[in-house]
Amino acid sequence: MVDRHRTIPRRISLTNTIFEGNNNVYLLDGERTILVDTGVSVPAIREELADGLAAYGVSYADIDEIFLTHWHYDHAGLAGEIQAESSATVYVHEADAALVAGDRTAIDAESTLKRQRFDEWSIPEDARRELEQYLSTAMEIGGQAVDVTPITDGDTFERNGGTLEAVHLPGHAAGLTAYAFEGETGREAFVGDVILPRYTPNVGGADVRVERPLETYLRSLERFIELDFERAWPGHRAPIDDPSSRAATIIAHHRDRTERVISVLEDQGPADVWTVSAHLFGSLSGIHILHGPGEAYAHLDHVRAAGIVTETDGVYALSQSNPSIESLFPSIDQ
Ligand SMILES: [Zn+2]
Ligand SMILES: [Zn+2]
Repeated sequence: MVDRHRTIPRRISLTNTIFEGNNNVYLLDGERTILVDTGVSVPAIREELADGLAAYGVSYADIDEIFLTHWHYDHAGLAGEIQAESSATVYVHEADAALVAGDRTAIDAESTLKRQRFDEWSIPEDARRELEQYLSTAMEIGGQAVDVTPITDGDTFERNGGTLEAVHLPGHAAGLTAYAFEGETGREAFVGDVILPRYTPNVGGADVRVERPLETYLRSLERFIELDFERAWPGHRAPIDDPSSRAATIIAHHRDRTERVISVLEDQGPADVWTVSAHLFGSLSGIHILHGPGEAYAHLDHVRAAGIVTETDGVYALSQSNPSIESLFPSIDQ
């Protein structure tokens, strides 16, 4: 009889409020001491994570490896500091590797692209100033540069008697990667921000490098549902016991949002991204000044690619009346 190894993650829930809040760090204990994600690089959270690890008899210096789900600062922020103390190997998908490594060219390119989007999305001057302020503060929680080891879809890692398998599920971020493993309930995965229990992960604004963001994300959700995990360990908040149905709910939510975007254009006539965003989300502050129009853009782009709207100089107009959007979304009956 084969005794199958089952990985049982230890979840350390942090109390940060920035971005989606309450980031999770997962500890895999055994021959090698492994973390999945880290947390924002601020003193209080650095200490909180150290305390959380100490409860399992682990210190930063003990960490052998860190598997990052994506480059966002609330997931990758502390990787550099932990690596400095432990010489841990830090893995992240190749699409996000340069950003985590602190590569100037990559960081500047992302920053330039973001500002280009602010123009394309017609973000007004005052909102833009507030967003710039927020972004410069956010840069400070990004932490130290990391010596990264890039990974790609399908890479497997035999660790502590089990296997971690990288599953690239881009959308929210270009390099977003889940790590699948054999867990207590069967096939499980660390999913980062692929699906979250409470919010729908931002698409369009959270990583402006993603081309055709909603389309990309929907393909990832479709693949995620096919993988049929028994349990997902998200980047924020509690484990998700029925991950496929959560993914299906998120797909349905995006279909509803696309319908709303179309009705805004029906009611208002041609509109820019900022105007559509205001109809969807009202007035915005902080990071939402990026995420709101980003999300509106992702939906407008999705229907533009299908020929339902046209775009001229940042203004979107319906080119069909009563368009059908059903075929633009994976069928989710299960
Ligand atoms: Zn994220
Ligand atoms: Zn996150």
